[in-house]
Amino acid sequence: MMAHSSPPDGSRTGGDTRSTMENVGAVQRDDSPLITPDRHPEMIVITSWDDGHPQDMHLADLLHRHGIEGTFFVPVRNIEGHATLGPAELRDIAARFEIGSHTLNHVRLDGLAPADAEAEIRNGKEELESIVGQPVEGFCYPGGRVPHGARGMLQRNGISYARTIESFRLDCGDDPYQIPTTLQVFPHRRLVYAANYVKGANYFSRFRCFKTAFLDGSIWSILNKFATHSAGGPRILHIWGHSRELAELDLWDELDLFFTRLMSCKPTVMSLANLAASIRPSNEPDDAPANFSATY
Ligand SMILES: [Zn+2]
Repeated sequence: MMAHSSPPDGSRTGGDTRSTMENVGAVQRDDSPLITPDRHPEMIVITSWDDGHPQDMHLADLLHRHGIEGTFFVPVRNIEGHATLGPAELRDIAARFEIGSHTLNHVRLDGLAPADAEAEIRNGKEELESIVGQPVEGFCYPGGRVPHGARGMLQRNGISYARTIESFRLDCGDDPYQIPTTLQVFPHRRLVYAANYVKGANYFSRFRCFKTAFLDGSIWSILNKFATHSAGGPRILHIWGHSRELAELDLWDELDLFFTRLMSCKPTVMSLANLAASIRPSNEPDDAPANFSATY
């Protein structure tokens, strides 16, 4: 059983700077259950940020200011030519947030021979660990492409969970190697929401969120509905995105405003890193919210 060391409501108040930094630092293992009678948030917020662009530094500061957890899925290099975080920046983020792997070169694994795909996984994780000086257990598939035999490759290389880009989910799914998300923080058009819904599977689990997104059409309005529970209150809100796009589209102010609104719901909102949220509580209470039974 693993749980993040941050307070259950995601707050980071109290203590001196050093203890605060420790609280928000690397994911630690302990035996405390994720969900207990006194830890019953109405919503768990998970945020994931992909590709390790230098704008992640700005994002990390924004998350930290709001007391929101985040997992940064980072390739060591990016063959698409986008800049990536340097060693000092990676260590800075790793001191405050969970860092996950995103292959060595940011390549889509389904187009590679199995041995090459596994080498990308292994080398991406090992190089990242040598830079940040701590274990890296999480992984995110570049482009959302899950290669054949992914689970075995990841397990052989010490990866304990993997995130996809499946959208419109308000739960964690039932496979730790195919963790879904709720929404990408990007102003997609309605047609893109419709296309993504049709392309995916799990139509039943995704319908409620898809319907909200499609009928509303505005990313901030959709997210605010979930944050304020006016869309029925998701149990798990997993948002993800790319800091490079947030910068290019100048979405920082809107994201700041959304985080303010979201965290004003404390303590009904609990923010967790991917790793902590990916582990099913062993002593889940009988009256746990229904969707927690879908976590693992
Ligand atoms: Zn990526």
